[in-house]
Amino acid sequence: MKALIIDAIHSAIGEELGKYMQVDTKMLPTQAELASIIGDYDVLLMRVDPAINKEIIDAGKNLKVIAVCAVGLNHVDLDYAKEKGIQVFNAPGWSDNAVAELTISKMLDISRGTMQADREVKEKKQWNKYKYYGSELRGKTLGILGFGRIGRRVCKLANAFEMKVYAYDPFLPAEVFTENNAIGTSMEEVLKVSDYVTIHLPLLPETRNLISTESIKNMKDTAVVLNMSRGGIVNEKDMYEALKAGTMGGYATDVMENELAGGGLTKGAGFDSPLFGCDNFIVSPHIGAQTKDAAYLIGQDIIAKVKGALNLQ
Ligand code: NAD
Repeated sequence: MKALIIDAIHSAIGEELGKYMQVDTKMLPTQAELASIIGDYDVLLMRVDPAINKEIIDAGKNLKVIAVCAVGLNHVDLDYAKEKGIQVFNAPGWSDNAVAELTISKMLDISRGTMQADREVKEKKQWNKYKYYGSELRGKTLGILGFGRIGRRVCKLANAFEMKVYAYDPFLPAEVFTENNAIGTSMEEVLKVSDYVTIHLPLLPETRNLISTESIKNMKDTAVVLNMSRGGIVNEKDMYEALKAGTMGGYATDVMENELAGGGLTKGAGFDSPLFGCDNFIVSPHIGAQTKDAAYLIGQDIIAKVKGALNLQ
């Protein structure tokens, strides 16, 4: 048997599977590159790049397991994998705290202008002490869209900052909100009352463009949106226009609509966005789950799932 690692995953995975099979690494291949080499492998170990389409699945003649060392599975054609008898695993639950801490970090950063101030000091050698009058999280209202594992962890941390938490998740019973010290309500109400709105629901056809000109109209002009989930949930063009018009206080994101575009990132090519010119926009390159702590826990989970699926003792 042979396994192929195509992204930065915990070293324990390769070490453990290496006891049972040959383990190769080809970092971040494009879709075409992956399709050309996947035929030899029984196990594919990856994160979220590149998207696994029908062509790659068809090329994976020996493929039995796709192990995704992440939560989201929207980049894998799950129906087709199932049709071909390939088991697909993810590792939910291990990175909740990592994503939640980054969410709070972004809330603090955008509220105090630390990113912009840092660039001014280091790049422009400016000491603009009086330019930055931030606001505090204490006493503010946080709206959480999607009250699952990560949403609830963010709620717990926000409670520690003495924020008032409203949450929208139509799939949960009322007691989940009360037990977590949040007010469960409609999306309209969450958008209306919140100073910060953070997104922790999956990218689905019905959640694509959830934050758009239409929904931005229901929000405070000073509100800050945080997207820690997936590019595409926030319509970036509408967000840019709202930031420019001053009808939105800020946008902090860990994900972007075109982060997988054209295999650009895997080839080292850049991408651009009008948002990059906005001071009240801050971004990180999809690092939410990426801590040493989470990688270790994810690694142990994936090892157990792959060994279980292939009956490796
Ligand atoms: P989860 O499944 O525990 O929670 C998602 C919640 O969203 C569920 O409670 C579900 O009921 C709710 N939901 C689904 N559809 C909805 C809708 N249409 N409207 C409102 N609520 C809806 O998942 P999680 O572990 O909390 O992760 C949430 C998302 O975060 C994932 O889908 C993933 O895309 C993203 N994520 C991002 C990173 C990162 O690196 N930035 C890391 C991990 C997860």
